Amino acid sequence: MNMKRIATEEAFVTEDIATEWAKLLSAEKVEPGFRLMGDSILGSSAGAKAVHRRLLDLGEGRIAHMDATGIDIQVLSITSPGVQVFDSATGAALARQSNDVLVDAIAKHPTRFAGLAAIAPQDPATAVAELTRVANLPGIKGFIINSHTHGEYLDLPKYWPILEAAESLGLPLYLHPREPSPAMLAPFADYGLFFAGWGFAAETGLHAMRIIMCGVLDRFPKLTILLGHMGEGIPFWLQRIDNRYQLQVRLGAVRKMARLPSEYFLENFLITTSGVCSAPALKLSIEVLGAHRILFAADYPYESVEEAVAFMDGVDVTEEIRAQIYWGNATRVFRLA
Ligand code: MN
Repeated sequence: MNMKRIATEEAFVTEDIATEWAKLLSAEKVEPGFRLMGDSILGSSAGAKAVHRRLLDLGEGRIAHMDATGIDIQVLSITSPGVQVFDSATGAALARQSNDVLVDAIAKHPTRFAGLAAIAPQDPATAVAELTRVANLPGIKGFIINSHTHGEYLDLPKYWPILEAAESLGLPLYLHPREPSPAMLAPFADYGLFFAGWGFAAETGLHAMRIIMCGVLDRFPKLTILLGHMGEGIPFWLQRIDNRYQLQVRLGAVRKMARLPSEYFLENFLITTSGVCSAPALKLSIEVLGAHRILFAADYPYESVEEAVAFMDGVDVTEEIRAQIYWGNATRVFRLA
């Protein structure tokens, strides 16, 4: 069977964003979580430097790695935390510039790359303008937001124009992790818990739940949101989320929504396998969401693509489901040719 592999959460960075990150990290005042992330983002270790070189490469080196690991297409996105740590003007300018870099890279390798645009939610009106600008550029198939922006989440009404634009332009939102927001960071700061093993999922799962529970999906019912990392834990919790939500409604503690939390999740969200090579986690997700809502991702260059491919090649699912997850769903959701 022809098993194309489309990897959907694959990271890059521009020289300019990296330079501005370094400036921010050397300043006295910087978000405490971003400070903690600094060592892994721009660290001086050989490993960190190798990752950084791979992030900057949108050309032959990346393609060679894809060929060596059997990846047909990478759906590229600016790496976390992207432009969301900057002031509004800097963030908007760097988002626009990195989108142009992305479009150029796709134009050079149109059969190998597609992309998710960056926006700076700091100024929602400018973010909407950028979404509108990039929506019809060749190769742009959605956009990415790296969870909180200066501690704020997309449930705040000031950000709803971004969600409205995403829906009307038909651009899926990839809600990608970063470290916990300033208000929740302290208990995650020890033992490395702020990082990708736990803190990222706690932060991003919370963000997704805030979007669901604020009711905004009733306004934008066609909005599509992707979560990486097998849904950041939410598929595991859905039954309990519904159950306790219903209790809270009976107690008058939360507002009753048109539908159950799980119904929004199953209607508006898709998940990817990025960073999770666990057969039990995949099987639970298939059972809860259906295989049509799960996309393959490798999380290059942070995770082992070899491991992700070996897992997805070998996991005990039908060939039909394997094909859906590897490329069928990505082709549909991102409207790939
Ligand atoms: Mn990632």
